Amino acid sequence: MRKVFNFSAGPATLPEEVLIQAKEEALDWCGSGMSIMEMSHRSKEFMSVAIQAEEDLRLLLNIPNNYKILFLQGGATLQFSMVPLNLMSKVGSADYIKTGTWGAKAIREAKLFGKVNVIADTSSEKGFISEPDKNSLNISEESDYLHYTPNETIEGVEFSYIPETGGTPLVADMSSNILSKPIDVSKYGIIYAGAQKNIGPAGLTLVIIREDLVDKGSPNIPTMLRYDTYSSNESMYNTPPTYSWYLAGLVFRWLKKQGGLQSISEKNNSKSEALYKAIDSTEFYNNHVEARCRSRMNVTFTLQNKELEDDFLSKAKDAGLVSLKGHRSIGGIRASIYNAMPYDGVKALIDFMSEFERKNG
Ligand code: PMP
Repeated sequence: MRKVFNFSAGPATLPEEVLIQAKEEALDWCGSGMSIMEMSHRSKEFMSVAIQAEEDLRLLLNIPNNYKILFLQGGATLQFSMVPLNLMSKVGSADYIKTGTWGAKAIREAKLFGKVNVIADTSSEKGFISEPDKNSLNISEESDYLHYTPNETIEGVEFSYIPETGGTPLVADMSSNILSKPIDVSKYGIIYAGAQKNIGPAGLTLVIIREDLVDKGSPNIPTMLRYDTYSSNESMYNTPPTYSWYLAGLVFRWLKKQGGLQSISEKNNSKSEALYKAIDSTEFYNNHVEARCRSRMNVTFTLQNKELEDDFLSKAKDAGLVSLKGHRSIGGIRASIYNAMPYDGVKALIDFMSEFERKNG
């Protein structure tokens, strides 16, 4: 049994069962006499791990056959450059939706490569607290793709819909809500995600890309920044992050055992609903995000009396509830409750919040 509930936004808590299995296999993977960390990525043992992980992911997300799954490095941040590098045509133009800090960073990077049309920007005096109106999105005619961030990890804003693009490829930075619910992959051109929230440990970046978009880039893109390099070499053009890949595979298997994404989505809904209900039940705590787009993964809130925040965080830590500090750019409190956070962790937080209010309200 673990000693704390870890609400970190990423690297984030992993399923206990996965960690136990990794521990058991640490010195001797399946009778091979060595750790998976020590094996050649081209060995048949590691290949079997890699293939199984891909198969399990394809099954979990119901990924159609005309999509490639790529296992990369460089984090989601490298995708902020790889997407425009590979997808922008010679004239280079793309549409972006800005609903938070990560979308803003993606925009800043894309501007290095071509023309960026920000077709929606929800920043307001209160920060980013909403999603754009579904019908207000006008895709530019010349746009090579539309990029958006389905879940803004820092502000806790999660889209309640998938933008309609009418044929323009849709690119999604799903770093903080991938695998949290079933999705229709066929609506996307590219889905990418850093692994360190719902997939596994840091070091791995997942890209799910429609086949026709793999080799759209110009020939002078550096080899390691081209999607086709990974696609035509089973993500093994160079040494991939083998241990993270293996752990991601264990997480996929764990998700299957949980009943797949429909079942995990129901659990995620009940965890976040309980927490928002606790926040809304008192003026002591506040969340300003519009109800329809409140994140189920990153629940942000403030204390009415900001001076109590440090005390809240330190008492929470004493109670075994750690990493609740909001992102340094906006402050406040943030409880990241990804797939691996058990309901008991959320319940412990709610009980703590109510007790803290009783003593300080
Ligand atoms: N996009 C989103 C939505 C994120 O939450 C993060 C990391 N928190 C990033 C991008 C950057 O990811 P990485 O650190 O893997 O580059």
